[in-house]
Amino acid sequence: MRFDIITIFPQIFDSYLNESILKRAQAKKLIDIKIHNLRDFTSNKHKKVDDKPFGGGPGMVLMAEPIIKAVKKAVKSKKTKVILFSAGGKQFDNKAARVLSKYNQLVFVCGRYEGVDERVKKAVKDLGLGVEEISIGPYVLTGGELPAMVLIDAISRQIKDVLGKQESLEEKRLGVGVPGYTRPEAFIFRKKKYPTPKVLLSGNHQKIEEWRRKNKK
Ligand code: SAM
Repeated sequence: MRFDIITIFPQIFDSYLNESILKRAQAKKLIDIKIHNLRDFTSNKHKKVDDKPFGGGPGMVLMAEPIIKAVKKAVKSKKTKVILFSAGGKQFDNKAARVLSKYNQLVFVCGRYEGVDERVKKAVKDLGLGVEEISIGPYVLTGGELPAMVLIDAISRQIKDVLGKQESLEEKRLGVGVPGYTRPEAFIFRKKKYPTPKVLLSGNHQKIEEWRRKNKK
């Protein structure tokens, strides 16, 4: 799976995408992440990629032309899907992550300021590509960079061999929100004892699984 990110803040991605599971997935060539600086796609000599909104109002809007140029450069096939981020988009969840993990390439357009010129969506469709507007939750963020990292993380976990066998089996079998406990058996804090549920120390795997299913958040 290849992820392409179009952004005006390419450095934002340096740390998160290069640690832990995502770092290993890239080293194993299970995922490939390419970052494109939107400012490289403007003909403007000051590298300007935004302008005032028609009709007035505060803030700036990212212009369509550099975005479409960047999308054209990033896209490798007609089967690629382009994702636009918007707080008003379709709510992202694990089911969407599973569906998106079947693509060979996803291109993420990270909005900033007051968002992206509305005509980007139509122009991407006219390139013959699938396009979707996605929200990662009912709140407004400063830009689409965090949503891009959220999607890469959640989608990568659905790709075969990205998670260790045991980890991915557990998630499939039991679902999400299973409570976890580790040493010490009794955690003492301000003289109060916080014990581990006895069943988890019992060694009885059937009972442990039943308890985990029942106590999922
Ligand atoms: N007034 C704009 C609006 O109503 O969409 C707010 C734009 S927001 C400050 C800047 C960018 O952040 C958006 O264009 C989008 O790319 C991204 N963004 C903000 N909140 C988001 C969310 N909940 N999910 C996905 N992207 C979001």
